[in-house]
Amino acid sequence: MKKTGLLLILSLSALIILSGCRTQKKPAAQGSADTSSVTSSQKSKKATAATSSSASDADSSSTSGVAESASNSSTDVDSQTQENTTTVDENRAATNHIASADSYAYSAAEVQTAMTGQPTTITQPTVFLTFDDGVNQTMTPRVLQVLADQQVHATFFVVGNTLTAPDNQAMLQKEYQAGHGIAIHSYDHNYSLLYPNRVANAANIVREYQQAETLMQQILGADFTTKVWRYPGGHMSWQGLAPADAQLKQLGVTWMDWNGAVGDALGSRGPKTVEAMLQYHANSLTAFPSSPVKVILMHDAIDKELTLQALPKVIEYYKTHGYQFGILS
Ligand SMILES: [Zn+2]
Repeated sequence: MKKTGLLLILSLSALIILSGCRTQKKPAAQGSADTSSVTSSQKSKKATAATSSSASDADSSSTSGVAESASNSSTDVDSQTQENTTTVDENRAATNHIASADSYAYSAAEVQTAMTGQPTTITQPTVFLTFDDGVNQTMTPRVLQVLADQQVHATFFVVGNTLTAPDNQAMLQKEYQAGHGIAIHSYDHNYSLLYPNRVANAANIVREYQQAETLMQQILGADFTTKVWRYPGGHMSWQGLAPADAQLKQLGVTWMDWNGAVGDALGSRGPKTVEAMLQYHANSLTAFPSSPVKVILMHDAIDKELTLQALPKVIEYYKTHGYQFGILS
């Protein structure tokens, strides 16, 4: 049963990844393309904190801050100025989210275990909405607005090279200040560098993680660090990842895949309507029905209009079914 489920999710994911990758090549200049897995590294301290907070606690504690910062700073923030508005608690370890998000931030390592239905300290139904391939000026602000309107939080798997543009740096700050989790989805999202001949190049992978993290620290400040990584294309799509996994782990980094998706990386074979996307999402959840933890793969790349349209309904599904919304840390 477990094996069957695993196979199902793997093939689902592989499908998503393989097609997603190709479709995403074109936005590479602004965003990048598509999918993947993650890593995280922090210990479980957060899982405990998060578990003890109820869904409404998590929502309200972060929401007010989020909604405000999202709307107040959306157009006029400059990276330098906003950086200085961050309250720095010297006793708080650097992490991938602002302090007010602590109550709903979960260790990615814990989530990685939990999402395949293995025993976990996360006992409440918890969903982690994840968005790959940003940031950009087209879709990212609209996704942020939906999340603010819905008063929920997500984790953004950002492609490092999108952050060289000043307006995109400001967008990253908006994500961060709004209480979302910031994770890394490589620097260049270039499969031929990360996985030449489909085999992982550990040195390139680790370098891309470090390049992206360094740039993020320059934008978000020294109290920022992120130990959450998603392999472009997904961990399950490539060969020879063990050395890269091990080197990332030495850096405290956890890779993270997903156990649910909306099918927005399937290209021409993907859902064409909101209804079809919601159906795809519902079907994807059957892979690990017993896990209280759902990690949902979505994209805020510039061509993901349908994802944006479906997003309020996806969120509604989890609210209706009693989930709290967490971020990966
Ligand atoms: Zn991607």
